[in-house]
Amino acid sequence: MVKKRKLPLKACVKCKTLVQDGVEVCPVCGSREFTEEWDGIVGILNPEKSEVARILSIKQKGLFSIKVR
Ligand SMILES: [Zn+2]
Repeated sequence: MVKKRKLPLKACVKCKTLVQDGVEVCPVCGSREFTEEWDGIVGILNPEKSEVARILSIKQKGLFSIKVR
């Protein structure tokens, strides 16, 4: 049986960075707008060489959501 567990993470509306629930300001872009309605998770270690980072226009390393609703 698979139990769906909600991650204690929210996504920045502007740059899609995933931060922990208690964080109030996005460490990447400084936005205070977050959403819990996000899908998918991608870890970027090397944004300059990552195809995924290029497609999602991510320039920092870190955890990002693929889709923010
Ligand atoms: Zn941000």
